[in-house]
Amino acid sequence: MKILLVEDEDRIASFVVKGLQADAHVVERAADVASAKRLVASRSFDLVLLDLLLPDGNGAEVLEAVRARDDEIPVIVLSALGEVDDKVSLLDRGADDYLTKPFSMRELSARVRAHMRHGQVVSHSLRIGELELDTRTRVAKRGVTSVDLPSREYALLEYLMRHPGQVLTRQQLLDAVWGFDFDTGSNVVDVYVGYLRRKLDFPGAPSVIETVRGAGYRVPA
Ligand code: CA
Repeated sequence: MKILLVEDEDRIASFVVKGLQADAHVVERAADVASAKRLVASRSFDLVLLDLLLPDGNGAEVLEAVRARDDEIPVIVLSALGEVDDKVSLLDRGADDYLTKPFSMRELSARVRAHMRHGQVVSHSLRIGELELDTRTRVAKRGVTSVDLPSREYALLEYLMRHPGQVLTRQQLLDAVWGFDFDTGSNVVDVYVGYLRRKLDFPGAPSVIETVRGAGYRVPA
């Protein structure tokens, strides 16, 4: 999972980053409100850990930026003792949980796990085997390859990935991705499958999209 840590104290940040990495999370850290907002605007995260007192403002501003972009992403506030009013007001404004400093890494890991379980139904990525598609950034990943997909290629891959293992005819794919503009005579589906394969296939591995002769295409389950 991809986690944004907003924390200005280096000592706490490095302790949390190390702990989360040990749990196999990918962590990006911001040390102030401005850089946290930049990251929130430009990337997608699965969870946010949010300190309140930051050098250029309050964590509440970051919470607003997160909620403006996504209602569902879990936000856990990391606050010092005595910031009770802040905690309550942040929970009212859409934070999901808080931990009081100092906290143990075990406690933080457990909270992160709990919120990730809740969040799974609203996950923003589709994953089948080593193929992963981020439905917000439209980035497809396979192994070390990572590509931004133009909208039709994205829509085609997303549709195939939402029907894993199912053979989809050219007509079904045309209807789903191109709508009524194209008829059965068009080879546009084959052309776009070709684009996706060029971007995501590599020698020695099965193609990301399988051709089922005489029937159509599928992404193997
Ligand atoms: Ca702080």
